[in-house]
Amino acid sequence: MDISKKAQRLIWALWALTVPFGIYLMYQFAPPVQINWPILWGYTALAILTTYFPFKVAGTTLFLVQWINLAIFLKYGLFIELIIMQIAIIPLALRLKITFSDFYRVLFNSFMFFMVSVISGISVLLMGYQIGSIELKEILVFGSFYQLINMTTNHVILYTYRFLTKQETGGFFGRDSVWDFAGFIVTFPFGITLYLLNEYIGPVSFLLLGIPFLMITFVVRLYSNSERVNDDLNQATEIGHEFAERLSYNEILELFLIKLNNMLPIDYSYIINVKHGNMSVLKAMEKTSDVQLNYSHEKLLMSIAGYVYKRDKAVLFDKKSEWRKRGSDFLPMDTESVICVPIHRNQIMEGILVIGSMQKHAYEMHQLQILSLLCSYFALSLEKARHLEEALSKSERCGLTKLYNYRYLEENLELKMNELLNGELLQLSVLMMDIDHFKAINDQYGHQSGNDILYGVARLLEKELKDCGVLARYGGEEFVVILPNYSKQQSLELAEQLRMKIETTPFEIRTELEDNPQLSQVHITMSIGISTAPEDCDEAMALIRNADRALYIGAKREGRNRVAEYVK
Ligand code: GH3
Ligand code: MG
Ligand code: MG
Repeated sequence: MDISKKAQRLIWALWALTVPFGIYLMYQFAPPVQINWPILWGYTALAILTTYFPFKVAGTTLFLVQWINLAIFLKYGLFIELIIMQIAIIPLALRLKITFSDFYRVLFNSFMFFMVSVISGISVLLMGYQIGSIELKEILVFGSFYQLINMTTNHVILYTYRFLTKQETGGFFGRDSVWDFAGFIVTFPFGITLYLLNEYIGPVSFLLLGIPFLMITFVVRLYSNSERVNDDLNQATEIGHEFAERLSYNEILELFLIKLNNMLPIDYSYIINVKHGNMSVLKAMEKTSDVQLNYSHEKLLMSIAGYVYKRDKAVLFDKKSEWRKRGSDFLPMDTESVICVPIHRNQIMEGILVIGSMQKHAYEMHQLQILSLLCSYFALSLEKARHLEEALSKSERCGLTKLYNYRYLEENLELKMNELLNGELLQLSVLMMDIDHFKAINDQYGHQSGNDILYGVARLLEKELKDCGVLARYGGEEFVVILPNYSKQQSLELAEQLRMKIETTPFEIRTELEDNPQLSQVHITMSIGISTAPEDCDEAMALIRNADRALYIGAKREGRNRVAEYVK
């Protein structure tokens, strides 16, 4: 929305060159005629109130002030109308809480109002309108010309401004022109009536017309506010539904910030994790990219997040000066509006959401409440995802060794075999490993020690294999490795490495058969059988069977502690 500094300076210059001198010129060209002060004050008050309380309909803000300036022009002519319209900019600036840095907007509006007043006023005066006329036909004809020119000039200037500053124009005859025209149709009779009533009954006409008009404005504003709340609620409901469909923890985390970004004007967003009274940044997004922030609990405690953490209550700040006094912060320097909401689950604070915008007054109170609601959805969905992920991982893993179980092995092997058949893989090897004389170890040191060794072997294999294949516990003291794109020769080399590593690594156990338990070290050996597809077979289970055969015939029978490949 903001325009470049150069364009801002141009606006200052344009204003300074046209408006002050132009007002003086207009005074000379069309000086005010017999002024009735109560009526003039009435008009001024009505103009100010109308611009201070604009209409908001379907996301468009309308300043329905044109019927008042029509009446003012008809009554007092160009100069007074010009002055009152300039005064009416002041409440507009107050309403939008304009600061010095965007003061150019006030000047632009002043320039635009000035041009609109001058062009429509001069045109109608040149057409022959006599100021203060009470001839109905004249008033209707000149009045409608006045308003049409007024409306068109306003539209042309705004369109040109948007075009030059490369903002969305919506086409010359877009939505805005429809609203302008609707405004004209609705307010034109009001303007004429106000003028005529003033002529005949004086200032009472402000009570008869002005007050009902302002009342209608209020009702429409209330209605449009509730519409906006409704819109936001609808969006929030949709986000809730989407959460329900997402299963993974990371997906939900990602989705939450992206959806909030679509719903609200957000430049910066952060999710702070709260665990055992400790805060840390879980996720941070600045503009549209993820950033890594490592702030300590103490530093976060001094920030807005800490402020909300201590009070356990959501807050909304409209501008920087309101939140800066809450201590030092991790928010970027250009942040203005901030909403910060605690995330609760089962009445316990589990996190804090912080969102910020570079615009002042970017957020409304109802959005804070909707965010609180969304945060509860969010916390619940995260918990659900966590449970699901845990359950899934339990169903795929063996409880003792934490390696993949037989079920996962079977699925993965089928998958890889299909990839081989599709040509995505060129080769697929399987290692079947079995600890030698494991029964004897159990007998000697006890079952628990046997378990410790199985756990130790699992960690060792995991470390040796890194990510080159899928390692699973096949059963008892048997392990299987699936090796995509491993030739038989490569598998033989890898298996030999593993065999040697096992042979040379002592495993620590706690001997429990004696009275006082103590740590001791055990050496074990392992036999390994290998089979490779497609040379040995082209079916998943056959690959396992072949590796098993190689293990028993080629390795165990030949004396154990050796590697053997399948031979047909
Ligand atoms: P081989 O060299 O022929 O493989 O001899 P082995 O003793 O290792 O073979 P066998 O199949 O006769 O015995 C396997 C033993 O592994 C039997 C069982 O007590 C032990 N075992 C299987 N599962 C577990 C387990 O989960 N924990 C423990 N501690 N032992 C297990
Ligand atoms: Mg064995
Ligand atoms: Mg066995």
